Amino acid sequence: MEAILQETKFIMNKYHIKANKKLGQNFLINDKVVEEIIKSSEIKENDLIIEIGPGLGTLTKELLEKAGKVICIELDTNMITILKDRFKLYNNFEIMNEDVLKVDLKNLIKQEKQNEKIHQVKVVANLPYYITTPIIMKLLEEKLDLETITVMVQKEVADRLTAVPGEKNTGAITYSVNYYAEAKQIIEVEKQSFIPEPEVTSEVIQLKIRKQPKVQITNEKLMFNIIKNAFTQRRKTLLNALTNTNIFQNKEQGLEILKELNLKENIRAEELTLEQFAKITEKL
Ligand code: SAM
Repeated sequence: MEAILQETKFIMNKYHIKANKKLGQNFLINDKVVEEIIKSSEIKENDLIIEIGPGLGTLTKELLEKAGKVICIELDTNMITILKDRFKLYNNFEIMNEDVLKVDLKNLIKQEKQNEKIHQVKVVANLPYYITTPIIMKLLEEKLDLETITVMVQKEVADRLTAVPGEKNTGAITYSVNYYAEAKQIIEVEKQSFIPEPEVTSEVIQLKIRKQPKVQITNEKLMFNIIKNAFTQRRKTLLNALTNTNIFQNKEQGLEILKELNLKENIRAEELTLEQFAKITEKL
């Protein structure tokens, strides 16, 4: 039996832990996947790592060996007891018993960066799947001072997040990710790599935050609203979707804009690049 599986079972027995499904608790038990997450995060000794949902501390243990500081954010109080016990000898370990969606990450990072020993901040996590999208959108939209986000997510979500706008597998979220980051897939992870097994295959992905957003746009909010509306009616043409949702005042206005941008009348949302959505936004 893999050492990591033995260790996980030992900790779960010792503290009488049963995985809490509601909190998305699927504990990683695959050495190779842990290794790949740590390797691809390229952790340096003056990095601050923010780990979301450390659980029993499988990734945390490796992060603590490499990073200048590790701040873990965990909602489950049972895990907090274990983590405090397990890592009490590490002076680079800090834990917050909080819902990550409610944490003021901007301020946290600002405070930590005042320490001259911290150069870069990275997020590493095996995410709770019931809130994958809100967590990723929070990390991106709050424009945090981050280098990379390396996270385990459901494979289907990974495909969406790392898709290339204008090609297949895109959704509105593909454009948000592409605006803020360069996304790539790191490793596919089978269900058997966790206890308990999740219902779906997983994938580790990495988002490298851009220094500047991919396109320059005066009204970012409007652009994302247009993209959202275009994709809520994805079976329709872009013209119909944006007319029905009153983004275009009427079909004539829509047709004129499409013509000016050399886009065919029956183009669909998923065929557009981020730059083309930005141009439509500017026209409006
Ligand atoms: N990192 C561990 C691992 O790889 O084995 C556990 C990962 S498990 C998929 C997700 C973790 O996120 C759980 O420990 C769960 O308690 C925690 N969690 C769930 N909701 C959370 C929230 N809103 N804020 C912070 N942590 C949360």
